[in-house]
Amino acid sequence: MPELPEVEVTRLSFAERIAGARIDAVLVGKPLRWPLGCEVRNLLGQRVLAVRRRGKYLLLDLSEGLLLMHLGMSGSVSFGDTLPAAGKHDHFDMVTSLGTLRLHDPRRFGAVVYASGEDDPVAQKLLGRLGVEPLSEAFDALGFHQLLKGRKTAIKPLLLGGQAVVGVGNIYASEALFLAGIRPTTKASLISKPRAARLHRAIQDVLANAVAKGGSTLRDFSNAAGEAGHFQLEAMVYDRAGLPCRVCAAPIKSIRQGQRSTFYCATCQKP
Ligand SMILES: [Zn+2]
Repeated sequence: MPELPEVEVTRLSFAERIAGARIDAVLVGKPLRWPLGCEVRNLLGQRVLAVRRRGKYLLLDLSEGLLLMHLGMSGSVSFGDTLPAAGKHDHFDMVTSLGTLRLHDPRRFGAVVYASGEDDPVAQKLLGRLGVEPLSEAFDALGFHQLLKGRKTAIKPLLLGGQAVVGVGNIYASEALFLAGIRPTTKASLISKPRAARLHRAIQDVLANAVAKGGSTLRDFSNAAGEAGHFQLEAMVYDRAGLPCRVCAAPIKSIRQGQRSTFYCATCQKP
């Protein structure tokens, strides 16, 4: 599943190239998770002014309104002027004066949705409840600690919930908790100020690092038709059950938390 760094790397791979493009045609394939929400003809002739990201949504600012694009479980985006004919998993093609933007999505949990603005109820429904952006200045260590103090749930599902901070998925939550030395089952309210500060820093580091690494692999991705870039994440704990911890060599443990796999080192990560 594309996580925040993958979405950000996707954005970086085409945002500058599509800026200023005029929309000449839009081809909609099989139904995606949500309908487009406007007539295709309303998009024609509009310009793509900029591409932003909020959580795991790509926001394409148009002359009038915006398109919200989500990659769902299996989506990937490509942009170029020499894409092959749409295949059976290509469900959205936007032909512009600077190239074609394509959403490839075999499982069709992704979507492209039109909204008249960010205060449009359609956009509010998708973006309105998202927490603070982890790579922005709005995500500060003190505020993060304050929020944790009020929550009695375990820290890892709290991170995944997206209300404390947006876009920290299963992989990056596990990795950040390892870097911070915090057991995933620790009650959020029991995490001290210094430990919250370490976790805050770890979340930013692990995401920024993934974006930096993806930036190099995605250069090919944006030219290749419809193939998702893949993060070569050197995971410390994620998906390493039974393997030796890279720091202390104790076997990595795996548990289930809220239907999701959690990986941690019982030696390096304290309750
Ligand atoms: Zn360890």
